[in-house]
Amino acid sequence: MIIIQQGDLVLTDRILTGDLLIDGDKIVAIDEHVPVPEGAKVIDAKGCYVFPGFIDPHTHFQMTNALASTADDFDSGTKAAILGGTTSIINFASPEEGSLCKGLEVHKERAAGHCSCDYKFHMELVEMNDIVASEIPKVVEAGVSSFKVYLAYGFRLTDREIYDAIEAIKPTGALVGAHCETGDLIDALVASKRKRGELDISNHPLTRPAMIESESIKRFSTIGASLEYPVHIVHVSSKEGVEEILRERSLGHTVTCETCPQYLVLDESRYSLPNYEGAKYVMSPPLRTKVDQMTLKEALVNGTFQTIGSDHCSFNFEDQKLKSRHDFTRIPGGIPGAEERGIVAYDVLVNQCNMSAVDFMKLVSENPAKLYGMYPKKGTLAVGSDGDITIVDKSVEHVLSKESAHTKADYIPYEGLSVTGKVRDVILRGHHVVQDGSLIESYLGECIP
Ligand SMILES: [Zn+2]
Repeated sequence: MIIIQQGDLVLTDRILTGDLLIDGDKIVAIDEHVPVPEGAKVIDAKGCYVFPGFIDPHTHFQMTNALASTADDFDSGTKAAILGGTTSIINFASPEEGSLCKGLEVHKERAAGHCSCDYKFHMELVEMNDIVASEIPKVVEAGVSSFKVYLAYGFRLTDREIYDAIEAIKPTGALVGAHCETGDLIDALVASKRKRGELDISNHPLTRPAMIESESIKRFSTIGASLEYPVHIVHVSSKEGVEEILRERSLGHTVTCETCPQYLVLDESRYSLPNYEGAKYVMSPPLRTKVDQMTLKEALVNGTFQTIGSDHCSFNFEDQKLKSRHDFTRIPGGIPGAEERGIVAYDVLVNQCNMSAVDFMKLVSENPAKLYGMYPKKGTLAVGSDGDITIVDKSVEHVLSKESAHTKADYIPYEGLSVTGKVRDVILRGHHVVQDGSLIESYLGECIP
């Protein structure tokens, strides 16, 4: 048994300064004062927020794409995640040999026994045919509660295929998320850059302007609306993107959305850093302007967004990204960020934007649990819910740095960023796994049914 005493418990509708008792893997009592049972481990949480464990709905651990394999596998990725207060991740699984079922099996096997936080999978749809359609209900039966389609990259679906995918998913009730950037237009802009020999890193954002994101959001939302089915937009990065989502909602279309901390604190000036350092920040969608950052923050505060994901997709700077410094199209895209996601978002939203801890909690825990079918097992401090707890010491000021980070990548994008608030202790289903910022027990992560 573990009792957390006198913390500011972030409940679904208020903050309660009090105690929380976990017995076995479940929360069994929450009150101003809970008597200490004999033999219970006592954790003093005075001056700390006690959150339901954070949920990262967007990680790419142990992924190989056409250009490279990620630095982080499930082992290092989930260690970084849990040290950042994330007790559950939803990782992307891709089909194997055209089969969703096989893809899910392979990803489950890769993760089993190697994870230090709980995990679940989104299934990517990279082609659409009768076999895929017939397997959609089977993977839902096997625990998948969300699918992802891409409107960019070589494996993007056509509008017709997305329509067919949503039609096949609709009877299962699963969520359909999309990477919204217009692939054909990006290809054209890249080809034009190539023809002119403009391949240095600073060209990356120019081939993926914000209007490409908003056009794609509109198209994806329209396809969903034509089937009267909700859609979800991942990693929204721009003012145009936010405005498009609001416009879709004003038409009565159900659109939920996610953004990422990198779009709140980093901007496009990174692509012009000396010594090819811009390669560290090559990701899609790219970093935007200060105006976009401001719009995203306002949209988070006013409730436009439902979730914040890390989009952790880690490649090494030295031996992976830098190799292609003279051709931005060959630089593997993505950044590590699973460890920093919670605290960077906390610092921006709670400290700088005066968001309530309750509203912040919804973005990083409750809403993803609800969207992805894990609520109320996950995502809430409530009697009967999993004992997944993240304790944040509000007063500790610290500087983020690769030196103290746990990603296997050789850099972090938030190097030098000063934040106030530190993940001190983490409990995973009743196991005290992070103590005073150190991982004391590994590999207790389980697949979330
Ligand atoms: Zn992603």
